[in-house]
Amino acid sequence: MTEYMELVKEINEEIIENRRSLHRFPETGFQLDKTVEFVEKKLKEYGIESVRVGKAGLSATIGKSGKTVLLRADMDALPMKEETELPFASENEFCHSCGHDAHTAMLLGAARVLKETEENLEGTVKLMFQPAEELLAGAQDMIEAGVLHNPEVDAAIAMHIYVGNEISKTGTISYARGTALFSGDAIKIHVKGKNAHGSTPDKGIDAISIAAHIVIALQQIIAREVPTEDQAVVIVGKISGGDTVNTLAGNAELEVSVRATTEEKREYLKNRVKEISENVARTYKGEAKVEFWYGMGPLYNDPELTDQVAGYCGEIIGEENLTIIPIAVGTEDFTSVAAEVPGVMINLGVGSVDEGYSLSIHNPGMVLNEEALRIGSALYAHCAARYLSNKE
Ligand SMILES: [Zn+2]
Ligand SMILES: [Zn+2]
Repeated sequence: MTEYMELVKEINEEIIENRRSLHRFPETGFQLDKTVEFVEKKLKEYGIESVRVGKAGLSATIGKSGKTVLLRADMDALPMKEETELPFASENEFCHSCGHDAHTAMLLGAARVLKETEENLEGTVKLMFQPAEELLAGAQDMIEAGVLHNPEVDAAIAMHIYVGNEISKTGTISYARGTALFSGDAIKIHVKGKNAHGSTPDKGIDAISIAAHIVIALQQIIAREVPTEDQAVVIVGKISGGDTVNTLAGNAELEVSVRATTEEKREYLKNRVKEISENVARTYKGEAKVEFWYGMGPLYNDPELTDQVAGYCGEIIGEENLTIIPIAVGTEDFTSVAAEVPGVMINLGVGSVDEGYSLSIHNPGMVLNEEALRIGSALYAHCAARYLSNKE
């Protein structure tokens, strides 16, 4: 068995240097010109030819024919100003506060050691460097451009940093078995009424009053339609409408957020939001148009693959450093990949509260322990190689 944990020690500085280079010049969404160029150049340096996939993705393969396992890293940053005061802090208005610089650097490190030991691989490792994770759009774009084909992907593994938590100790792994993340949907409800002077309410249709009834009616879904043992969220996060104090509002708009644990329950909630809104509006002589704005299904960690990958992680970091966690609220673009092929997303601890890392991802002050990066590289490489060598 190739000792990836030993091999990554020799390239530790390179992994950290790559991460810092990416960290200095964060880019967002699909606008990743410098980032993609950097990754392409590094892969080339390691003797790996990559191809551009979709709007701003990169893919490459290492190994020989056989099974194919995909390793995913995301490359995009967030539109916020960094507040870490690190010597390699962002030099523009964006910030790698979700750690995608670390993901990219870890996958580059894995690519390098996998390439160096390519003859030991018993199948193909496909690298997927994706854009626009934060927009929940980059993975789908790469899938539509064919990243899961040629060669056909049998399984996919993604890693995300975990920081600022009690259980995010450096170099440990936590993961959910089965559903890992709730679905998340944003819905807009456009309520149409009819303007009228406040002195003649009978001449108008009050969109604000209708919107208020919709808010109350939507609460009934959670109160009476979701079984007590199940979890779901329906909230009205924003409401607006009307023109002035003494006029019946002709229009109102609500923004609703819906979260569920399965695809069926997600569809149920979305349908009920639509039905209730339309019918309440009709009751009061108005009209509601429901717009499914954007959304992402629940992330499903294939249980069999999850057990396998957790076992491989345990082989190099020790069983005692693995924690199974319950389903979490949040969305992740890897969901699109895991909806197509068996997939698993694991969390790599890069600093716990006890270790002095108190801020979590999406905080502009988030810092991580770079000692974890080479461990991430070794885990990516080891999990891929072990998956390919498993002939069951
Ligand atoms: Zn994020
Ligand atoms: Zn992220």
